[in-house]
Amino acid sequence: VLLHMTLQLLGKTSADKLYLQIQKEVKELSYSPCLAVILVGEDPASQVYVGKKIKKCAELGFQSRKILLPEDTSEAALLKQIQSLNEDSEVDGILVQLPLPKHIHEATIIECIDAKKDVDVLTSRLAGKLMHNEHQIAPCTPSGIIRMLEDHDIQMEGKDAVVLGRSKIVGLPMSLLLQQAGATVTLCHSKTKDIRSHTKRADIVIVAVGKPEFLGKEDFHKNSVVIDVGIHRREDGSLCGDVRQEEIRDYVAAYSPVPKGVGPMTIAMLMWNNLQLSKLRRIK
Ligand code: NAP
Repeated sequence: VLLHMTLQLLGKTSADKLYLQIQKEVKELSYSPCLAVILVGEDPASQVYVGKKIKKCAELGFQSRKILLPEDTSEAALLKQIQSLNEDSEVDGILVQLPLPKHIHEATIIECIDAKKDVDVLTSRLAGKLMHNEHQIAPCTPSGIIRMLEDHDIQMEGKDAVVLGRSKIVGLPMSLLLQQAGATVTLCHSKTKDIRSHTKRADIVIVAVGKPEFLGKEDFHKNSVVIDVGIHRREDGSLCGDVRQEEIRDYVAAYSPVPKGVGPMTIAMLMWNNLQLSKLRRIK
């Protein structure tokens, strides 16, 4: 009897592999790359993410700047802060932790980041390069997912992929990268009529809706590859994704767990992007 074995796509394994590559490249540099992270407000989840990024910089021998600003920071003050990081020759990458407080216009802030330091590929200049497949780096979460799939020898070319969610930071760039990898992509969102009809027939499903345990076994088939981008804290303090993981664990062909899936890989890609930006800017 053949047992059905589900492959776990561990972001942690892929992240560790990427860190080895980063450490190798860093050794050959005459400088240490520097990442600046700006957090406006006291959102606890954002504080945790920023803390993890700064800690990782230290582990890799990167320099970092942690800029914490109060919730009531004005848009003008934030723009000024970004401008000074743009002009700071030591800083290679600038990451503004999203979401920003409601009174700040996100697009205005993002466009102020020097494209040479746009480590999460959000400015229209770098997003345009991504669209034209002329990019040197891609947004951290979706490009991390592509690497995870490659690391686990999951073919994308010729496959049907469904992406749930069309955010600028995850869903939309994810759909572009999958399409560039040769997949046929369907992008679903809150106005999509019958999501299950799409996910049920797809080879690869990327779920980034930001709704706890939104999809389950009945949305997939046993050969599905499921990437769960969501991250939520339950009332008991445990973490869950956008997918009911215990339902799919022994059913689908492969899935990324929460935690230890997309999360660690996103941070690794951020470090990778920062290293690439530093080389592009400093090594002529
Ligand atoms: P977002 O900006 O809130 O976007 C959510 C997307 O899902 C939107 O496009 C929305 O559609 C769509 N959506 C919402 N409700 C839906 C529904 N009922 N049916 C179908 N589509 C629906 O979120 P995000 O920034 O992309 O993040 C998504 C999730 O990933 C969040 O849980 C976030 O915490 C997590 N995340 C994790 C990492 C990581 O490193 N692990 C990184 C980034 C994000 P409309 O456009 O029509 O509104």
